[in-house]
Amino acid sequence: MTEYKLLIGGKLVAGEMTMDVINPATEEVLATCPRASPAQLDDAVAAANAAFKGWAKTPIEDRRACVMKLADAIDANAADLARLLTQEQGKPLAESSAEMAYTAAFLRYLAGLELTNKIIEDNDNRRVEQRRKPLGVVGLIIPWNFPVLIVAFKLPSALLAGNTVIIKPAPTTPLTTLRIGELCADIFPAGVVNIVTDQNDLGSHMTAHPGIAKISFTGSTETGKKVMAGAASTIKRITLELGGNDAAIVMGDVDPKVVAPGIFGGATMNAGQVCLAIKRVYAHDSIYDELCSELGKLADSAVVDDGLKQGAQIGPLQNKMQYEKVKTFLADAHANGTIVAGGQVEDRPGYFIRPTIVRDITDGTKLVDEEQFGPILPIIRFTDVEDAMERANSSPWGLGGSVWTNDRDKAYELACEMESGTVWINKHLDFGPNIPFGGAKQSGIGVEFAEEGLHEFTQLQVINEAR
Ligand code: NAD
Repeated sequence: MTEYKLLIGGKLVAGEMTMDVINPATEEVLATCPRASPAQLDDAVAAANAAFKGWAKTPIEDRRACVMKLADAIDANAADLARLLTQEQGKPLAESSAEMAYTAAFLRYLAGLELTNKIIEDNDNRRVEQRRKPLGVVGLIIPWNFPVLIVAFKLPSALLAGNTVIIKPAPTTPLTTLRIGELCADIFPAGVVNIVTDQNDLGSHMTAHPGIAKISFTGSTETGKKVMAGAASTIKRITLELGGNDAAIVMGDVDPKVVAPGIFGGATMNAGQVCLAIKRVYAHDSIYDELCSELGKLADSAVVDDGLKQGAQIGPLQNKMQYEKVKTFLADAHANGTIVAGGQVEDRPGYFIRPTIVRDITDGTKLVDEEQFGPILPIIRFTDVEDAMERANSSPWGLGGSVWTNDRDKAYELACEMESGTVWINKHLDFGPNIPFGGAKQSGIGVEFAEEGLHEFTQLQVINEAR
């Protein structure tokens, strides 16, 4: 079996403990992986602090060049990394390959940004300059749905700003990140990038650690609350990208055949395990039956299989815990709605659930009100769009959402009413490193990407000089 190592202080080291990583398509052990102890996390924090001064003083062009080199190294190893990602995460190989390509693109774009100081006033009275300084050691806590891409959402901005980092992948998807750690070991000065793995036990130690200045966290809202509480003891900076329950509002003027593929793809990509996936559809009464039937046809024809198999469209759920959780949503769909397509797990090893379309269901049920994070989509009927918008907005979450109509003015008006960080019109799940991304309400705090995201990895400093 291939060996995997942690990256601490520039050295590839064994964990003090080990843990098994399961292939979700087979339920077999894919690899044994190092598991860091709290003492090893402390070592990583110490190494990152020791490297911080030198890295912060390194010219920004040199820091940028290192991140660009990492993007090149990922490109050069993309095929192997994508295959490993499919084996540990479950997504189809085409999606893993796309994740590698996006990862390199995010690294390059975000490392290409500029961090400029600003002169606010310069006159006979005073000179006031606004600067952006690095924070110190930043902890990047990553979930299991996009284990590599989400690192690329955070790492380039953290490093470009002059911080050093500790990356902690999710326990069920650490392997591809550890491989990337091997690439980092050859590119970055010792201690600038560290990677530790855990069994969900080091996150709280990180959030409360006095040697860490900021936590950039992506994961569930429940864990986000713990991060916030843990960060309070040291007034750590935090960026939280949390869960969502995105609504798609589909007006009566659309052709259901035309919009169904976009809605289906927006709900079932990565087996529905996408924070910004469509998680509930509000469809106008006049197109309700036809839309349900079109979505049902797409679900019936979807190829659910091991992501390594040619033609697989939807892979397994990522881990057993999530699989068991999604099954409770399936039970709710059977109890409170009518199943148009799917509705069952696959009779084989692996955490496979057929894409499921559920009609005749409404708000107040588990499937509509909570985040399913799986390939089960409820379709809710409406007659008055203001009422649909009110129901869409009644969620505690506010990550994304979409409006589907041929009336551009109405679409814009509705988009402005939606209480979410991103609203799409006639599409869902379109984003890029140049577009700031963040959640409203309990979907998060702060933003990632673009200049706004870069600034979150800095401390604003004002120098005010008498003249
Ligand atoms: P999770 O919250 O269970 O875990 C996320 C990470 O937090 C893991 O690395 C985990 O080990 C770590 N963690 C666990 N306990 C911790 C603690 N007490 N303190 C600090 N860290 C701790 O989330 P998940 O199940 O891996 O991911 C699914 C969730 O993530 C979904 O709710 C999804 O919507 C959300 N998500 C959000 C975004 C976004 O950008 N908004 C993107 C992807 C996923």
